[in-house]
Amino acid sequence: MKRLAIMLVACSTVALAQSPETGKAELKDAAGKSVGMVTLTETPHGVLIHAMLMGVPAGTHAFHVHATGKCEAPFTTAGGHFNPDSKQHGMSNDMGMHAGDMPNVQVPADGNLTFDVLDPHVTLKAGANSLFKDGGTAIVLHGGADDYKSDPAGNAGPRIACGVVTR
Ligand code: ZN
Repeated sequence: MKRLAIMLVACSTVALAQSPETGKAELKDAAGKSVGMVTLTETPHGVLIHAMLMGVPAGTHAFHVHATGKCEAPFTTAGGHFNPDSKQHGMSNDMGMHAGDMPNVQVPADGNLTFDVLDPHVTLKAGANSLFKDGGTAIVLHGGADDYKSDPAGNAGPRIACGVVTR
């Protein structure tokens, strides 16, 4: 029994030492107003993204990771979708999908939405698919819906908010 207790203590110490990698991004609109907070947590199956949107236009919006960590309106500075595997765009595309592609989000009339989404194709650890790669990455909210197949950007309209992924 005593031996078991010592093992449990040892295990919990290891768990603390290996707390998951995390990141965050503050989404701002083209006027520089904060419209969302995103937190990112490494899991064994990808990066879990928790987003709180505040005061964004109601409706269906594309939500992607873009390839450059630079957000200057109108946010073309963030580059295309994060695509380290050189795929085409979209989960409905036989030649897809980009690592940064994620499902649309449905913002209600009051403009506020909290949601979680898993991106299984990226990591917060080192490597080609790291959100902390050289040059960084950015989270982008688009004005329109992603059709999940039109290359390279899902015909999702303008970029209405952007946030650089940081530690
Ligand atoms: Zn894409």
